[in-house]
Amino acid sequence: MGAFRLEHFPQVCPICLQHQPYSSLISLNALNPGDGASLLDVVEEYMFPLLPELEQHTPRGVCGPCYVELNAFFAYRIRLKLVGKFVFCLAQLHNGQKNHLEE
Ligand SMILES: [Zn+2]
Repeated sequence: MGAFRLEHFPQVCPICLQHQPYSSLISLNALNPGDGASLLDVVEEYMFPLLPELEQHTPRGVCGPCYVELNAFFAYRIRLKLVGKFVFCLAQLHNGQKNHLEE
């Protein structure tokens, strides 16, 4: 991660905080990566609240490299959920409960 150029805030990527022209940022509104969650959902869940009164003072999109990392994060999150569900079903089966495998 390079030096921060926060004098350009909010014209920065909210993940790496690097200054980017708005035209090169991937909009928080337009994306729907991985498991169907939007970038707005991700920002609200993991980073900061999105308040309408602060919309003009908040970064509007992510840069390309952060978008690639975010998609890898989404894929990993989906993998964790699927493996966790599978392990849970195996534990239920090991415990003699077969009904979870029929779902
Ligand atoms: Zn970035």
